Amino acid sequence: MNRKLFLGAMLLLSANALFFSSCEDDNDKPLLPMVKITEVGSGHSNDGIGYAGSDVHINAEIIAEGLIESITAEIHQEDGNFEFQEVYTDAKGLKNTTFHKHLDIPKEAPEGEYHLHLVVKDQQGQTGMDEAHLIIKPASDNEDDGDDHDHSR
Ligand SMILES: [Zn+2]
Ligand SMILES: [Zn+2]
Repeated sequence: MNRKLFLGAMLLLSANALFFSSCEDDNDKPLLPMVKITEVGSGHSNDGIGYAGSDVHINAEIIAEGLIESITAEIHQEDGNFEFQEVYTDAKGLKNTTFHKHLDIPKEAPEGEYHLHLVVKDQQGQTGMDEAHLIIKPASDNEDDGDDHDHSR
């Protein structure tokens, strides 16, 4: 038996083993979805306020290498268990999008401090999230109720 040939074959085999294992390492999942809330507020503002019985404006930048499956806006009380949410699928299949929605706040939402969680699920089942602070005020505080007064200073 030729000793050199045998060693050569061994080297070839181990080189193959290396090749295959590094191939498996390359089989990485895409990056987790990235979510950045840029605006939350009443009207089209970023005042961080919502009025019961009205809607809250939400703007966010989203990048999902694994392609967007769904976007969930979930709002819950900071000290309590009142919560509501909406699931959006109109950006399904996109890699990146500017999210802009107006989420209805239930009339019966108690006033106080809330959290907004914006959760993006990709088509690999991975999720990314950003959160923001929101204050819900009673409908009676909503002076704007439809007319066009300019409240800017
Ligand atoms: Zn808006
Ligand atoms: Zn929270």
